[in-house]
Amino acid sequence: VDHTLVDVLDRSCRAHRERTALEFFGRVMSYGALEQQVAQAAEGLRRLGVSAGDRVAIILPNSPQNVVAFYAVLRLGAIAVQHNPLYTAPELRHQFEDHGARVVVAWTKVVDTVLGFADAVGIEAIIAADIVDAMPLGKRIALRLPIAKARQARSALGASVPRHPLVHDWRRLHVHGRLDAAHPRPSVDDTALIQYTSGTTGAAKGAVLSHANLVANTMQGRAWLPGLREGDEVFYGVLPLFHAYGLTLNLTFAISVGARLVLFPTPDVGLIVSAARRTPPSFIPAVPPLYERIAAAAEKGDIDVSGVRYAISGAMSLPVSTVERWEAVSGGYLVEGYGMTETSPVALGNPVGPTRRPGTVGVPFPSTRIRLIDPEHPDRELAPGERGELLISGPQVFQGYWGNDEATAAALLPERWLRTGDIAEVSDDGFVRIVDRLKELVITGGFNVAPSEVEQALREHPDVLDAAVVGLPRTSGGEDVAASIVLRVGRNSTVEAVREFVRTRLTPYKVPRRIDIVLELPRNLVGKVLRREVRQRMLDRDS
Ligand code: ATP
Ligand code: MG
Repeated sequence: VDHTLVDVLDRSCRAHRERTALEFFGRVMSYGALEQQVAQAAEGLRRLGVSAGDRVAIILPNSPQNVVAFYAVLRLGAIAVQHNPLYTAPELRHQFEDHGARVVVAWTKVVDTVLGFADAVGIEAIIAADIVDAMPLGKRIALRLPIAKARQARSALGASVPRHPLVHDWRRLHVHGRLDAAHPRPSVDDTALIQYTSGTTGAAKGAVLSHANLVANTMQGRAWLPGLREGDEVFYGVLPLFHAYGLTLNLTFAISVGARLVLFPTPDVGLIVSAARRTPPSFIPAVPPLYERIAAAAEKGDIDVSGVRYAISGAMSLPVSTVERWEAVSGGYLVEGYGMTETSPVALGNPVGPTRRPGTVGVPFPSTRIRLIDPEHPDRELAPGERGELLISGPQVFQGYWGNDEATAAALLPERWLRTGDIAEVSDDGFVRIVDRLKELVITGGFNVAPSEVEQALREHPDVLDAAVVGLPRTSGGEDVAASIVLRVGRNSTVEAVREFVRTRLTPYKVPRRIDIVLELPRNLVGKVLRREVRQRMLDRDS
């Protein structure tokens, strides 16, 4: 890798000046306008004292401002830190204490929250962006949302800029003109981003990603999906940009192929359906629950997804039934990849086409190597076909956790082999199957049970919509396999009937001792089931 994310942006802005870069609620911004806005926002940030190496926090839903702020920060050689705008004050504060950003670009709706801890963490400036009154340079094109829906979206997303000495208006950032073209640019090994992990297994950790890491993954992605046509794709940016998956697969990837990126502030199928009437998608990186929801809309004839020649799924395992459903409505392929924040994020992927293998995450990306180890005896070689912890090495492997040398040392083995914390197995011809997270295996009577295997058996029951399996402490020591299940609407199977059903599919020690029927499973914002929360709820119901 010999260029930065800023170079990638510049190249596309030159090559596609008149083409649309971003679309948001029916307004569009060209690549030429994007370049100009980034240069202006960079100048505004420079005047607020931002310089190379500084962290700048971004707390915005998917929006043009998020994109402009991100690239403006990078242009200055500073480090972007993306945040989930729905995080609570204590969660945000904890992350600010970690990364120490003094300048924040914040959604008008969260400015008061940030003000609540601004002094305590040394914040010097909050730039408030109203994402509804978004694109000063954007042309307005017909907004075909039903009026009521549009009003509702506006009032949910908009708010005025509060008056406070620390608070600046995003629009005022643009009045000073462009950054001097001679202003020093970042170099490839500079840090571009501190990206917090999803916090699925514990507190989120700040993964340090360099320009080289992120550009490498963008290029690997292009090699994976060679059918993407430069300047001719419509990406749907439904995944949050504050997560590694969305940041790379929506944003940096879209920019690198000169695509039109349609941004969605929430993964609302109603918004997707109405956007598709105007600008049909050709590429939608997403997660399985979202493919299910879009497929359901397509089955009703509400949306046409036949322009999506292929789709990719990651972040959690992709049920084979979702693959079948999506491929039936789109006529294209749905392929699964695997990765983590620490790998910028993609490390493995299925070939796009008839050789994809549902139920697996495919093969390593170009220039990526993998190994399996025994997590308890990392030096012991595993026999072929044995399950072990997946290790990854490649140009997308992160630099370490921000300010946490101990966690970095635990994750990175010599020669920068990354411990993923996931258990995997590899087929004879090299296809990888993710078994489960090491931390979430249930240890029952000396056996290891992978919750995902039990969940899959439960989901095969026609009445079961969703399932989460955890280990609950047993008074005699060890753990019991326990499940929380959600039934399909209108179905009323008993716990006993469901247990009988899985008994025909699983060895006795894997059959859940306890099954609770619940109304929904706790998920994080990318849609991952939070098993530790499921476990806590089961324990609470017990006492
Ligand atoms: P934390 O590290 O904070 O506990 P997290 O691991 O969920 O949260 P991410 O970096 O967003 O944070 O997710 C990476 C993890 O997601 C992987 O380690 C793996 O467990 C899971 N994952 C990603 N892709 C897949 C997939 N295709 N199938 C199964 N699991 C996947
Ligand atoms: Mg993780």
